[in-house]
Amino acid sequence: MPFSLLDINEHNAELLSLLTQHLPDMLWVKDTNGNYIYANNALCEGLLMAKDTQEPIGKNDIFFALRERATHSNNPYWHTFGELCFNSDRIVILNNKPMKFEEFGNIKGKMFYLEVYKAPFYDKDGNIIGTVGTGRDITELKKIQIDLQESLKKLDEQKEMFEYQANHDSLTDLPNRALFLDRLQQSIHMARRLRSKVAVIFMDLDHFKEINDSLGHHIGDKLLIEFSNRIKNVVRRSDTLSRLGGDEFCIILNDIADIDFISKFISQCMELNKLAYEIDKNSLHIGMSVGVSIYPSDGEQAGVLLQHADVAMYKAKSDGRNTYCFYDEEMTEKVFERANFENSLREAIDNKEFVVYFQPQINAKENTLVGMEALVRWQHPVIGLMSPEKFITLAEETGMIVQIDRLVMEQALCHFQKWHEDGLNPGKLAINLAVKQLQEDDFIDFITNLIKNKECIAQCLELEVTENNIMKNPGKSIEVMQQISELGIGLTIDDFGTGYSSLAYLKRLPINKLKIDKSFVSALPLNLDDIEISKTIISLSTILSLKVIAQGVETKEQKDFLVAHGCDFIQGYFYAHPMTAHDMTQFLIDYIKIDAP
Ligand code: C2E
Ligand code: CA
Repeated sequence: MPFSLLDINEHNAELLSLLTQHLPDMLWVKDTNGNYIYANNALCEGLLMAKDTQEPIGKNDIFFALRERATHSNNPYWHTFGELCFNSDRIVILNNKPMKFEEFGNIKGKMFYLEVYKAPFYDKDGNIIGTVGTGRDITELKKIQIDLQESLKKLDEQKEMFEYQANHDSLTDLPNRALFLDRLQQSIHMARRLRSKVAVIFMDLDHFKEINDSLGHHIGDKLLIEFSNRIKNVVRRSDTLSRLGGDEFCIILNDIADIDFISKFISQCMELNKLAYEIDKNSLHIGMSVGVSIYPSDGEQAGVLLQHADVAMYKAKSDGRNTYCFYDEEMTEKVFERANFENSLREAIDNKEFVVYFQPQINAKENTLVGMEALVRWQHPVIGLMSPEKFITLAEETGMIVQIDRLVMEQALCHFQKWHEDGLNPGKLAINLAVKQLQEDDFIDFITNLIKNKECIAQCLELEVTENNIMKNPGKSIEVMQQISELGIGLTIDDFGTGYSSLAYLKRLPINKLKIDKSFVSALPLNLDDIEISKTIISLSTILSLKVIAQGVETKEQKDFLVAHGCDFIQGYFYAHPMTAHDMTQFLIDYIKIDAP
């Protein structure tokens, strides 16, 4: 016969005792004095350290705690649970309601967490006559919780660190561009509410790259740190100094009372920057160019204000550097013009929009053609043919000149070789060379490739470098010029007389020819200064055994004067204007036939 509810009733007490005694959770019943009426196995073993489930009857928690502590008198924290449990019983009785506790203490020298539920129980009349309770060991769970909390805390710290790094410059520890723009936007909000002004001060160190290149990045880095420390000292706590990158720093000045304040502030920064930077036994001086834009007159958005301060900084640079400049609208127009122009020049390189013109060079004494100069023009798709004077400076500033010069060389050599092959005897081919080219590591490889298998061409080739440009970086330029010379290519100093080369210096250069600048030719033969200068250059070329050529010769008088004083080679409108390769072919054919002027 199967076991039924009836049987359960019959065995009630026995079953209940079995259940409670073998539950993993602690169970108990106490009277109102905290003395046990009932205790299960889990409680006796885990908390009370009682011999059996009978021992606790009539005793309380403190009894067991004291007994445990007595076995370890050297450790007052050996067993702290007794008092805790005893006290929470009191609380339940006082509150007269079931309660939950998380009790944390020490059992046998170890941390112990107990989750406890306690409830009062009553007699028929509703008087409290004791408490019942259950306890569960949650030590492992707690440990996991604590570990998890610690991991979360670490994660938070890491997140904070990453956030800091994402918003700060690692070298100077200053706010970076992202944080700067964020703070500027906040300053703008505030200024809008308070109807106040905010200034953006854009600072850029002058020629910082040269320090980096010549002394190394470690010196450059130290200079940037020292610079930021100096400026930090004068920036108010309410303002922001940031490093945007490289040698660019930017400051937000909040709540500007008057423009004078800005000027004074910048002067103060400039004064600080004037002092020498003593870095690794180097005493360095560096200028700075500063641009200012102001909210709300120069823009109402952070990005616009920053851009306008940048534009003003460029104006300060073009005004001669180490100065400051306030933004005005015209500046942007100029920058946009320049930016557009720069883009179309870049496109011109990709689309090979350059054509080479050639201007004859004549031996005026013998009336023979001695060579020609290749001169670039830009065949702009909309504007038409453009003179190099309009774009060479920009090409030099942006470095695009390197590609343009190489395109010119390839094109010019191509025509020149054809004239050679056709037996037209074109003489020498002079090509202008921007000094930037001499600083390119692969220039010698480029030119070697260009003249490969064309030895006769190398002998005819002359590269013209302007005097001023060589002086800007003499060391490297001379080294490369030497290599050019070793390839059998001639070198001419262009626009001679406009620079400051000393005689001693000229002797060191591997050059073959001087070209008298047209500015000394135009007023010949009347202007006494020009007479003196041109005569001196001609004598100088004789002393140094160099050839000499005059350019910009437009009249017979100019030509006669130069020839009379020993300069036979002439280039200028008097003989011919620069012309296309097609016209030059005809010129080469005709010049042999007709009498020269
Ligand atoms: P530059 O090398 O001094 O060239 C001489 C300039 O004088 C040329 O101007 C030429 O057309 C002009 N010219 C020639 N004869 C006379 C004359 O009798 N009277 C006057 N008033 N001018 C004369 P262009 O072609 O406009 O070139 C200007 C400058 O652009 C050149 O000055 C040169 O520095 C630069 N340039 C031209 N082509 C190139 C090139 O392929 N590469 C580089 N780097 N620069 C170039
Ligand atoms: Ca030239």
